[in-house]
Amino acid sequence: MLVIGLTGGIGSGKTSVSDRFAKLGAPVIDTDVIAREMVAPGMPAYGDIRGVFGDVVLGRDGTLDRDTLRKLVFDDDRKRAELERILHPAIKQEVSRRLQGIVAPYCIVVVPLLIESGFTDIVDRILVVDAPKECRLRRVRARSELTEAQVHRIFAAQANSEERRRRADDILDNEGELAELDDKVAALHRLYMRLSEQR
Ligand code: ATP
Repeated sequence: MLVIGLTGGIGSGKTSVSDRFAKLGAPVIDTDVIAREMVAPGMPAYGDIRGVFGDVVLGRDGTLDRDTLRKLVFDDDRKRAELERILHPAIKQEVSRRLQGIVAPYCIVVVPLLIESGFTDIVDRILVVDAPKECRLRRVRARSELTEAQVHRIFAAQANSEERRRRADDILDNEGELAELDDKVAALHRLYMRLSEQR
């Protein structure tokens, strides 16, 4: 099976794109969803994170407060590295496990930090979704409580657009209307079906 790693900066449109691939029948593994499952109370990563960050990152119900954690790690590079050290290997292992259970011509693995986190070795091809920073900032602010400064800190912690584009096999520019995405995703779907037949 051809494994496509889909990545892009915050607010670039990864979810909008992966939803369209799913509608076309492609299996989608979303590492954000896996990350959420890995930090549920009782999971090893929950205990590890609590050990490193303390109870300030827990909500009243004892579950991890992801907003608090996100603010902490994007203000502190060392803490971010510690969180990544806990999460990335566990997520990668779970992605590999799920890939083994999928039968399809190709599948999409959504990894926000694909380039940054050593996930490149479990994918065959990298698809980068991209849009200018101003556009991404506008989208993120429209749908979250993050301040402009917080979004800029997240931009700074992620690979920059040039770096991502350099590593890409395919680039989907998502600056235009949402409606344009359907055609762009359909064209990539045809490409991936063709490539999977050639393997
Ligand atoms: P994150 O990294 O924060 O998870 P993401 O890369 O998955 O974000 P999406 O959630 O797909 O990005 O998109 C961010 C927001 O921008 C969403 O509210 C989405 O509906 C909107 N959006 C995405 N693409 C477009 C577009 N082409 N035109 C207008 N709005 C868009």
